[in-house]
Amino acid sequence: ATSFILYYREKRQREMTSRFKPRRIELRSDEIVHGVTGLIGNTPLIRIASLSNALGVNILGKAEFLNPGGSVKDRVALRIVEDAEQQGLIHPHTRSRIFEGTVGSTGISIATIAKARSIIMPDDIALEKVNALRCLGATVERVRPVSIVDTKHNIARQHAASFGKHGTEGSLSHHLIQSTESVLVTTTMGLVPPRGDGVDHSGDNVKLEVEPRGFFADQFENRSNFDAHFEGTGPEIWRQTNGAVDAFVAGAGTGGTISGVGQFLKSVKEDVKIVLADPEGSGLYNKVKYGVMFDRREAEGTKRRHQVDTVVEGIGINRGVKNFQLALPIIGDGFRITDAEAVSMARFLVEKDGLFVGSSSACNLVAAVRYVKKMGWKDGQTVVTILCDSGNRHYSKFWNDEYLLSAGIPIDTQIIKDLLREP
Ligand code: PMP
Repeated sequence: ATSFILYYREKRQREMTSRFKPRRIELRSDEIVHGVTGLIGNTPLIRIASLSNALGVNILGKAEFLNPGGSVKDRVALRIVEDAEQQGLIHPHTRSRIFEGTVGSTGISIATIAKARSIIMPDDIALEKVNALRCLGATVERVRPVSIVDTKHNIARQHAASFGKHGTEGSLSHHLIQSTESVLVTTTMGLVPPRGDGVDHSGDNVKLEVEPRGFFADQFENRSNFDAHFEGTGPEIWRQTNGAVDAFVAGAGTGGTISGVGQFLKSVKEDVKIVLADPEGSGLYNKVKYGVMFDRREAEGTKRRHQVDTVVEGIGINRGVKNFQLALPIIGDGFRITDAEAVSMARFLVEKDGLFVGSSSACNLVAAVRYVKKMGWKDGQTVVTILCDSGNRHYSKFWNDEYLLSAGIPIDTQIIKDLLREP
């Protein structure tokens, strides 16, 4: 009886499997990425149907929120860490510590990539980013916003300089790299791998005669930031649009994106337009329009950014930083975007496209629409912008209705609907 049952069970299984004929699947060995850094970059370019169809053009967003650290900053952090390692400024198998001042995205990216890190953030930033950083094992210090962009009294730079002389946060020594003292460090499992490079370092137990170092990532002045976009994001956009790109629109925090992508696109297509999206309280719009950060003609821009309670995080600044300077000669136009417009755009995109983006992405898209309107484009021109991060980094401010209402910012998709309809 048992063999009878087994016979029929096998027969049925044979029938079952043969009923589900698999379609032919191409086998390939190049689809496994190595570690978390393998997930960075090569993001898709998404055509935003609602805006594109309403305008008669192609509004394309580079889906940077799909990077493993959740933002465009993964590219920059990876490049900064790689370049610093190559220059011997940090050592992968030691307790080297990376310091950075950040509104969150860069910090999360650095913490994702590097094992040793210390992040200094302005104290008005959405709490979810602080929480993400703590989960990633970063040390977070919250300071007044101005302390992370200040060149003279930059806290991250000071910490980096004082760290490492004796492997700890010691007293301020002005330059680490000049330190001749060498301490013997034995790597342990807790300290390696230094990066998510997909390599198992647990058995290494290498003895390295190098001192752990403090390294100031300095996204504002560090050229690696520009390079990440000039060699990565820019060429990707060029490839993905098949060379058909008429304008590139972006906001600027450090300016790395707009300068790196902008300069690359200009180098392959001279007449491509580079357009700045600038939030309230930032001086960059004035810089582009009038050549100075603070101009009486634009009362808004005369306010220091840290005095303006804006809900847009990550873009807008009042200091001429190096990475933004590289973009100045090529920026052809700019728009000041209000918080209300950005909020309206973000709500509109969820309603029409199911696309859930953060505040800087929304700003970029408002500027893209306004530029298309200003140029009178409606014949299939292509405008590319950056979807820097997802709405899920912004639950406590930009995506919090109560917060917005208490700040007097209207939540109304009609603003964007009117903008799209405007002649
Ligand atoms: N969006 C977000 C969410 C950011 O964190 C940043 C960087 N601070 C930017 C946009 C601006 O990019 P960039 O620094 O390249 O100008």
